[in-house]
Amino acid sequence: MIKQPSDITGCGVAVIAMLLGKKTYKCAMDLVEPNRDKWLVSRTDNMNIHQMKLALGQLMRGFHVVSGRKIPEGLGLAAIYVETNNLLKHWVAFDGEHYFDPLSTAKGPTFRINRRVAGFVALYPCTSGDLETCSGCNKP
Ligand SMILES: [Zn+2]
Repeated sequence: MIKQPSDITGCGVAVIAMLLGKKTYKCAMDLVEPNRDKWLVSRTDNMNIHQMKLALGQLMRGFHVVSGRKIPEGLGLAAIYVETNNLLKHWVAFDGEHYFDPLSTAKGPTFRINRRVAGFVALYPCTSGDLETCSGCNKP
């Protein structure tokens, strides 16, 4: 499980690291850095849902990337946007079964996330062989 380097920011990049199967936070940050103008909120390095969708769309080759607010049935790999106790937004990774919370204080992986879900960015593997022309295969 990859942890964010600070309690106030870096959860989005840590979640990208986990979804991409990277070994370290830095591996993912090296991929995000050249696109920080598009993928990170300036100064805070936070990511909103739109930015997470852009980043995963470019980094997760061969996957349909779908965002929404209410988690659908049968969700597989996904970045889940949750609210913390003080109503801040926070990203956790999901592998279809377990949640991976990048906060240093969070234990896990866990089967549940004890937070209000504000949205998600889901990844569905494209089985058509050509993501560019696919109009929807595994995509719900
Ligand atoms: Zn497809």
